[in-house]
Amino acid sequence: MDPKDSLFSTQISHLALDIGGTLIKLVYFSPNGDNCEGGSIVVGNGCSVVQGRLCFAKFETRKIDDCLDFIRFNILQHSGVQHTNGTARDKLSVKATGGGAFKFADLFKEKLGIVFDKEDEMHSLVCGVNFLLKTVPREAFTYLDGQKEFVQIDHNDLYPYLLVNIGSGVSMIKVDGDGKYERISGTSLGGGTFLGLGKLLTNCKSFDELLELSHQGNNRVIDMLVGDIYGGTDYSKIGLSSTAIASSFGKAISDGKELEDYQPEDVARSLLRMISNNIGQIAYLNALRFGLKRIFFGGFFIRGLEYTMDTISVAVHFWSRGEAKAMFLRHEGFLGALGAFTSYKDQSHSTELKPHHHTVERAVLKCSDDDSFRHTPVTANVNDGEAIEFRRLETTVATSPRILHRNQVYHSSFVEEEGITKACGCPLLPLKSHIKGPAPVSEQDRTDIVDEAITFFRANVFFTNFPIKSPADKLLIYLTFYINVALKRLEGCRTLAVGTKAIINLGLEDIPVPGETGFPFPGLFSLPSSQEEADLFRNYLKQVREETSGRLLSVAYRANGTPNKWWLAFAKRKFINVVLL
Ligand code: ADP
Repeated sequence: MDPKDSLFSTQISHLALDIGGTLIKLVYFSPNGDNCEGGSIVVGNGCSVVQGRLCFAKFETRKIDDCLDFIRFNILQHSGVQHTNGTARDKLSVKATGGGAFKFADLFKEKLGIVFDKEDEMHSLVCGVNFLLKTVPREAFTYLDGQKEFVQIDHNDLYPYLLVNIGSGVSMIKVDGDGKYERISGTSLGGGTFLGLGKLLTNCKSFDELLELSHQGNNRVIDMLVGDIYGGTDYSKIGLSSTAIASSFGKAISDGKELEDYQPEDVARSLLRMISNNIGQIAYLNALRFGLKRIFFGGFFIRGLEYTMDTISVAVHFWSRGEAKAMFLRHEGFLGALGAFTSYKDQSHSTELKPHHHTVERAVLKCSDDDSFRHTPVTANVNDGEAIEFRRLETTVATSPRILHRNQVYHSSFVEEEGITKACGCPLLPLKSHIKGPAPVSEQDRTDIVDEAITFFRANVFFTNFPIKSPADKLLIYLTFYINVALKRLEGCRTLAVGTKAIINLGLEDIPVPGETGFPFPGLFSLPSSQEEADLFRNYLKQVREETSGRLLSVAYRANGTPNKWWLAFAKRKFINVVLL
């Protein structure tokens, strides 16, 4: 068997997707969790099987190729299911929800060999919320007048409640129990409206930019307030204060100004206020219709933003005269994806990505109180400034005993030492290389140590110690270290041409051998017994480093010369320093 076929066996075990109109949300389980670069989620050990993390990621639906790449490189490949002949991939079935589970089904099948096992969108949302409310302590909270208060959820008194999911559009769902729900209302004025109108009105390019603008703006510049109409006084007879908004954007009609005369910050602020207010009010009216006292708000529009939550809370509080409560969820954006993820639990499975039943144990050890990540989204630093967020949720998931966790480093397969020259105890293994040097030439269709180093890199780099099983492992360690160094040089190189220059410069640097200053692993190799041996080893290292550099460039950059973030993100990692001899 080609060693590549056995790589990364089921390191990430389960995946669920929620493909919405604006964003694709991913929830996946990673036994060691470390490959959720840029932040992630800690998942504990449920029934002594696997400890890892629930990782959450999101991508813009319009950039679906990024999502495909992410799944290909960070999930399928790590799961050992990236077969090139397609046979294993054809059988992969993954839970998916949202409209995109239909729209993009063919694309995922064609590009990744993944077949969607579709879960109903509303059902998934409700399952996701119920899972969070029942499982994760300090998940729900109120936010009013700048005060955040966590709400203790009594499992026996959870229902009924109103779920308001603010995605591109808004759905309002009355939830009466597990699997008992009804979509009672909604509005098309949702997160998509905020983003769409915001882009048109302010020329900003992204949601984050629009939020940033809205932070700095003042809605009173454009909104017509009660006081503007009443000469600065309240309309107290009907309970309207002078600062209440009488008409969103209402001042624009009388000011005689053009759009350019307004600051984009103020426009963004009014828009955010208008959308949030409207949703809060419609939510309250629906809660009133059905006598519901608790309203949970979810969806990516909220993004933990204080101003948004405050506006919604004030609307609910104001209209209900304090009777109904607006509550928010710490993992508001991933409700549908979580619901789809938890639906694995009811099924037995036949493929590698499907977990066993009881995948998600409803036992949570702890949930981090530190939710600062909410307001400063963790950027995985992977795609040119467009943030990919990972959220942390410390919770406990038990995975099936059948899902094997790769908890060992990948060793080199070149254990045969016969006929191999050594220098400083390092086997000078053959290379598929045209670069001049002392390495014997390997056949082009055979795996060489550079292939191993590159293929194993993204798994091995996570380990903090590396038990050596053969002398070839020492070379593997050296090359893993070298790839790590080279990736750090490539960080920030936005094109293949710039990256190539950085790598050429790295190649010009001195290459120390054991015993010389700067050799990375003292004691890993024996000291040279002569100048000749030192030169031989130096020349071999030079050749193998150059060969590695060339092949690294071809994976770290795409065919069009742009960086492949799923490689360059690994520049952040620091490879081990403990070598077990
Ligand atoms: P959907 O499933 O319809 O895509 P989501 O719950 O994912 O809905 O929310 C989408 C909304 O979230 C967008 O319309 C926008 O208002 C908001 N949003 C939050 N973060 C982003 C982002 N980084 N890019 C685009 N929209 C975002």
